[in-house]
Amino acid sequence: MSAGFAQQSNADPKLGVYQRTLKLMGSRFDLTVVAENQQKGNAYLDLAIGEISRIERLISSWDPNSQTSAINANAGIAPVKVDEELFHLIERALKISKLTQGAFDISYASMDRIWKFDGSVTEMPAAEVIRRSVEKVGYQNIVLDRENMTVFLKKEGMKIGFGAIGKGYAADRAKELLMKKGVTSGIINASGDLDAWGTQPDGKDWMVAIVNPLNKDKVFSWLPVRDQAVVTSGNYEKYIILDGQRYTHIIDPRTGYPSKGILSATIFTKNAELADALATSIFVMGVETGLDFVNQLHGVECIIVDENNTISTSNNISLKEVGKKSS
Ligand code: ADP
Ligand code: MG
Repeated sequence: MSAGFAQQSNADPKLGVYQRTLKLMGSRFDLTVVAENQQKGNAYLDLAIGEISRIERLISSWDPNSQTSAINANAGIAPVKVDEELFHLIERALKISKLTQGAFDISYASMDRIWKFDGSVTEMPAAEVIRRSVEKVGYQNIVLDRENMTVFLKKEGMKIGFGAIGKGYAADRAKELLMKKGVTSGIINASGDLDAWGTQPDGKDWMVAIVNPLNKDKVFSWLPVRDQAVVTSGNYEKYIILDGQRYTHIIDPRTGYPSKGILSATIFTKNAELADALATSIFVMGVETGLDFVNQLHGVECIIVDENNTISTSNNISLKEVGKKSS
């Protein structure tokens, strides 16, 4: 997923588009703001970067000093007091788990002990090993205490991780901060988790490219986005092939097996956090259940590409095959 824009002759001459690309949260971020001049543009970009880095320090499960790591280290031992911000993020994640009947689950994380997507897994782990790893998974065993702002993972060895929601959340927060500072328009694009607001300086909508997951240079379609998040989960980067089957890095928390069958799922909705979580959930649900699910949600649309390269869309989205950018 990428965003494009075209400068027009009737553009407001006082406004320019300023961009920066850098690595944050272990991923590529493309930040775009509309501002009066380079200096202001740079200051806004710096603000967004500061905000995303702050969130990374809070939610990273790699950073041993993060509150998330403290929760994990105390699994089965003791509740951990956390910032309100992290508490509420976990609270919302649990709501999504309930909504998706467990397809989305931040406690999937203990399974990363058996499923590694770095080439080291070359054969299907034994059924017994998978069954045991699932015992440590289950959002029902994440205990929140609102009064004391604590999080407790009931089972020893349990772990939470924000791989499927963190980038979306960071994009939302960076956007909100910039809006508060008076930035009227921009795009936070976290490796395909994209949050856009306002318009291009010429008043036209930002355009988002829907790419072919098998060939990222091939664009299926360009869609206008206004005050919307567009998030794609795609398995073209992280997957393993076992017995000729292609498995993604998204694991069904209920069975312990990685999902297969979907190449990419794109969700359109108001905020990137929800979009991020739902895009991940679709992989676990599969095409049919995923479409049914999205069609029942108000204000959420999706595009799914399956392993046969068939494109399916939810009821209220029409995808014209234009192949090249049009405005
Ligand atoms: P992408 O890597 O395309 O951004 P996602 O946003 O879908 O993909 O996030 C995938 C990541 O989410 C995985 O790498 C893993 O860290 C985590 N994850 C895997 N399965 C689940 C799941 N069922 N629920 C929540 N998080 C998951
Ligand atoms: Mg996701």
